[in-house]
Amino acid sequence: MAPKVYIDGKLYEKGEARISVYDHGLLYGDGVFEGIRVYGGRIFRCAEHLDRLFASARAITLEVPMDRQALQDAMHQTLAATGLRDAYIRLLVTRGEGNLGLDPHACPTPSVIIIADSIALYPQEHYEKGLELVTVSTVRTPANVLNPRIKSLNYLNNILAKIECLQAGAHEAIMLNQEGFVAECTGDNIFILKDGRLVTPPVNAGILEGITRQVVMELARGAGMEVLERNMTQFDLYVADECFLTGTAAEIAPVVRIDSRSIGDGRPGAVTKKLLQMFRDYIAASVG
Ligand code: PMP
Repeated sequence: MAPKVYIDGKLYEKGEARISVYDHGLLYGDGVFEGIRVYGGRIFRCAEHLDRLFASARAITLEVPMDRQALQDAMHQTLAATGLRDAYIRLLVTRGEGNLGLDPHACPTPSVIIIADSIALYPQEHYEKGLELVTVSTVRTPANVLNPRIKSLNYLNNILAKIECLQAGAHEAIMLNQEGFVAECTGDNIFILKDGRLVTPPVNAGILEGITRQVVMELARGAGMEVLERNMTQFDLYVADECFLTGTAAEIAPVVRIDSRSIGDGRPGAVTKKLLQMFRDYIAASVG
């Protein structure tokens, strides 16, 4: 089950896949991407991922050189070549090959790259024992500087936060926005449970509008839970009954410590576990 890479219409082995060093995706992080799960041969929430990709591309005036159907077909083609039924797809659109200047007009043809690989699952221990988080000093990029809703190839803001949390010996970083409200983690959205209600930062807190976040809100509301999108401070995190992260790779990951303080009773919460079970049942049902 070797990974396969699609680049502008052709499939390659991982070791043979090459792009130009003049691609502005490499030179400037000029491009957009999606990280997508495949469960049982099915691309999970494909429409939502394509919506977000096209929105990100439009926001940076990048014209995706394929339509939605062609992208979907190319993802299936790449996936089929791997033989994998459960997989991770990285879909990228780069500005393409240009010169050494910034001007995107020097890049006439954007490139489409699709990597289909096995999913690097988080260790089971993270789900059983829960994650330890720290609030980092790296502020999430303000929306009026580079909107986090754009899933661009420039992830340095998140990487700097990741470096900080790893140096502190934590699993993940909580990034605040410029106003000091909780934004998100380096590659996941954050939720708390307080007095029976789920609370997560609103999109205008300066976050990526996560697709797993959306699915969790739908499932929770479907089960009769109240879900609020509301600004939170560190206080709200510290006094939460439960806390968890959502993301394509992580799915739903319990958080048990933040800034060396125990959250709730310091163990993965009952509602978090129930939501993870609901999420997995939902996937099993959608795979059929
Ligand atoms: N925030 C950031 C910064 C991310 O990179 C991701 C992962 N794409 C998420 C949140 C979670 O989004 P999703 O549920 O769509 O994977």
